[in-house]
Amino acid sequence: ARALNSLSFDESSSVISKNSRYVAGGVNSNFRLGMAPGPLVFKRGEGAYLFDVDGNRLIDYYCGMGAMVLGHSPAGVQAAVKAQVDEGILFAGQSEVEFEAARMICERIPSAQRIRFGSSGSEVAQAAMRLARAATGRSKIIKFEGHYHGWFDNVLWSTAPALADAGPAEAPVPVGGSRGQSRLDLEDLVILGWNDLAALEARVSKGDIAAVMMEPAMCNQGAISPAPGYLEGAQAICRKHGTLLVFDEVITGFRLGRGGAQERFGVTPDISLFAKAIANGFPVAAIVGRADLIDMFATGGVLHGGTFNAQPVAMAATVATQAALTPEHYEKSSVFGVRLREGMREELAAAGIKAQVTGFELMFHVAFGLDAPAKTYRDLARADKAGYARFTLALLKQGVRALERGAWFVSSEHNDDVVDQTLAAVRIAAREVAST
Ligand code: PMP
Repeated sequence: ARALNSLSFDESSSVISKNSRYVAGGVNSNFRLGMAPGPLVFKRGEGAYLFDVDGNRLIDYYCGMGAMVLGHSPAGVQAAVKAQVDEGILFAGQSEVEFEAARMICERIPSAQRIRFGSSGSEVAQAAMRLARAATGRSKIIKFEGHYHGWFDNVLWSTAPALADAGPAEAPVPVGGSRGQSRLDLEDLVILGWNDLAALEARVSKGDIAAVMMEPAMCNQGAISPAPGYLEGAQAICRKHGTLLVFDEVITGFRLGRGGAQERFGVTPDISLFAKAIANGFPVAAIVGRADLIDMFATGGVLHGGTFNAQPVAMAATVATQAALTPEHYEKSSVFGVRLREGMREELAAAGIKAQVTGFELMFHVAFGLDAPAKTYRDLARADKAGYARFTLALLKQGVRALERGAWFVSSEHNDDVVDQTLAAVRIAAREVAST
């Protein structure tokens, strides 16, 4: 049996507390605040590993919140970025590298007849809603409970509501995600439960919906597949009623396969959004879709701007990342991901922990305490979050960094050796948690 590790994170804590006099809470995104033993401070990333200021080497399953499909510091991306830095950083004009990146994305993504680049997922979600309103002359957007489309006021509703606040499943009450949010946005937002075609039809058929926006597989809060026929049904309902279908593929893109969830499930939306894995950690996002729609940014009076859009260094990272995302990349990394996912299921069961392990090859989700795989956000909200948080803390002390909210992101660097080390840590952490 492996010796019990118990890594210390004292230096991280000390750096965070010293620097909280400059940076609010010592973090630059609230999503980095929560987890015990507190925010960590890193020095370096390489392959599947992160190295922190305490001198710990951690196997990383955050993978840049899903961005690092190639793992940390892939040589090809680093070389392309260094070469581009030598050529110049920002032209406020066009560069050949952005057209190369655009061509690669359009060739890979089924719905991508045209593209515009942006810098974050949150931002391109805003562009999608504006475009849908302009194209349809309607103002209302449907979003689903448990789906996340960024941190902006008009979409940060019911992304992770407490069930006590969320009203009945068939008529969800919108629950805000932050103090200070404008309630006026609710005028244009309709919250529904996902994976329920009857509810969608009932609302869309009123004829006043500009767009239905969804994660085509729910990955931000869990890993829930669309029910058989759901995506096709949603598309048919949208078409029938003149509503646009928007897929938010910020997580699923380049992760559920090279062509995203739309290729995997064979449903082509009108508009889709990409970010995260598109450039393996560089701030790149894209809105893609039907030519007549995306062209409205050029000729339809719909404004889309951004100083950093298609920033050449980030575009060089996009081209190099896309070049590395070969069919072999997916075959190889899928084998690791599936081994880890199945090994996780076995180790948790062997420790006597009731858990559901659901999802895909390069992204899966672990929920403690559920009797059956979640089909909706409401099922997931009943998971034992406190128990899972104890598990992730125990894992961290064994040198494995996994998100407290249950997601595991796998890259091509999470090879058999890394999976073996991870499962050994899972075994120790699972027994520790089961016995307390
Ligand atoms: N959509 C989804 C599905 C996401 O998971 C995220 C980020 N977690 C976003 C949108 C927002 O992307 P960003 O953080 O780049 O603004």
